[in-house]
Amino acid sequence: MISKEIVRFAQKQGASIIKIEDLKSIRSMKKLWKRSDRNINSWAFFDLEEKLTYKAQLAELEVVKVNPFKTSQECSNCGNVVKKNRRGSLYTCSCGYKKNADVNASFVISTRSSNEEKAITAT
Ligand SMILES: [Zn+2]
Repeated sequence: MISKEIVRFAQKQGASIIKIEDLKSIRSMKKLWKRSDRNINSWAFFDLEEKLTYKAQLAELEVVKVNPFKTSQECSNCGNVVKKNRRGSLYTCSCGYKKNADVNASFVISTRSSNEEKAITAT
């Protein structure tokens, strides 16, 4: 159970919020799951999201959806968005930052505020 593991990990880290990509496009979903399971389809992601939200509630954790726009191109260290910084599975930035591209994208997501937070700031 992936959802169980995510909740357990968050608790271990002392986190109160779990941020997930707000995946509305099937394309990015496929990209996300390509390596772990070729047969997975869009239903599987929504199923995971549902289970994760449910398990997180039981653990009194909040699940926040974050805009995944260009997370894979953004440097989690300096905030630069450069497409060519990502080469395959490695992210290398001119600021000297170098990390696994997926790990970098996860850091970017964790620092990004939710769509709702943005909406509140806008009003
Ligand atoms: Zn950088």
